[in-house]
Amino acid sequence: MTASLLPYRRFIKEVDALCDRLGAIHRTHLSCRKGCFTCCTDISVLAVEAFSILRGVGTPLLGIPEEGKAFENINANYCVFLDLEGACKIYPYRPLICRTHGLPLLYPILEYDEAGKERALEEPAWQLFYCDLNFQGVEDEEMERVFTPETVLNMEEWNEQLVLINEGFRGSADGSSFLKAIYQGKFGERARKELFQTGRIPLSSLGWVIL
Ligand code: SF4
Repeated sequence: MTASLLPYRRFIKEVDALCDRLGAIHRTHLSCRKGCFTCCTDISVLAVEAFSILRGVGTPLLGIPEEGKAFENINANYCVFLDLEGACKIYPYRPLICRTHGLPLLYPILEYDEAGKERALEEPAWQLFYCDLNFQGVEDEEMERVFTPETVLNMEEWNEQLVLINEGFRGSADGSSFLKAIYQGKFGERARKELFQTGRIPLSSLGWVIL
């Protein structure tokens, strides 16, 4: 395996172990199954996740995408990696957020100032998210029992770890040639712009390489 991806693949193993454990705890409340693609929208990922997908499916990194031929005209609502049965074509290599689909996820509530800059809240506050198709029978009075710090995924913690791993990847030889290829437009204009503006890469920009 590419050395630059080792920290990321180790991280993913930990994520999978935790998600399996939470999946088992919540199994009676989850309706997730192969073919359900409610959560599979058009998302963007960090460079290390995008590179791991390309390496995982065996696509040579550079040279395959021809300049100006990027996959830009997709249906913007759903992920380009869905197959005709609504299953994920890159399941073993799917990014962090996809591994958590369906589970209860805890995110900090953020505030922004007029300039759009993140501002710390006086009292930290959190919000719980889960798919509307899951936890349907859970009554309000059961919430505290079903959702505890041990049975929800604190996404801030996992995202912080992922950001650090991504930083390490960006500093590697693989990372810098991958980013250079994107900035040169080899994965299309949308990928170039989004990487510049948000540091993320739309999955749709990778999709045409292997569809
Ligand atoms: S990568 Fe796979 S799991 Fe993730 S949104 Fe796309 S189809 Fe769904």
